[in-house]
Amino acid sequence: MRLVNTILDRNWTEPLPIYSWAIEHPEGIILIDTGETARTLEPGYFPWWNPYFQWSIKPCLQPEDEVGNRLQALGIKPEDVRWVILTHMHTDHIGGLEYFPNAEIIVSRREYEVSGGWSGQLKGYLNHQWPKWLAPRLIDFEPKPIGPFPESFTLTKAGDVCLIPTHGHTAGHLSVLVQIDGRSLFFAGDASYSQQLMLEQIVDGVAQDENSSRQTLQRILQYVQEFPTVYLPSHDPDAAQRLAERSIVSV
Ligand SMILES: [Zn+2]
Repeated sequence: MRLVNTILDRNWTEPLPIYSWAIEHPEGIILIDTGETARTLEPGYFPWWNPYFQWSIKPCLQPEDEVGNRLQALGIKPEDVRWVILTHMHTDHIGGLEYFPNAEIIVSRREYEVSGGWSGQLKGYLNHQWPKWLAPRLIDFEPKPIGPFPESFTLTKAGDVCLIPTHGHTAGHLSVLVQIDGRSLFFAGDASYSQQLMLEQIVDGVAQDENSSRQTLQRILQYVQEFPTVYLPSHDPDAAQRLAERSIVSV
């Protein structure tokens, strides 16, 4: 019923952000997710047969909101980005990929496998809109636990940027942990849509796997209880301010 409710509910939230996060790391600029493309405003961008896209979202972003233009405004050239980490392959996280043909695109092997082809389209992945050049580096997690997460993948030589599996919203969803000044920055993608929904342990409406989503939410809660953590979901209106203030989750 989660999905049915999501499609039929006619109450709208306030407009929600779609964050991309840039990390100016000594080993190179890292981008987490690429946001959405303004092409979503063009008729026919979303498949007509998918009720979620027709009824449950109202895209309202302009070309100047796209990640390439936002990076330029911050003084970062898109061509200088070394790594683009994708939390998952949903359109609002990979819509800005076209700006990064020269970056190394990183996604979990599992996510890439489930998002391709016709079966991927039935799950809501718009793989017919992906750039033709897309050939990501596929990540297999290693049995190196981080807190309650049994596996991880260390991206940087410095060991301060790690990927962890946070599946549930999608089968191969990952989150990014950055260690800085004794705190963890937890870039959660859509593991939960907001910090509050994580604290309340609520599974979202389109989550592909309810049980693994619950397990992920429990692990995140356990993690933030063990380590001082700034928790940063992609669609949480308060996330940017929490990052600016480095304000940690209090449980
Ligand atoms: Zn998503």
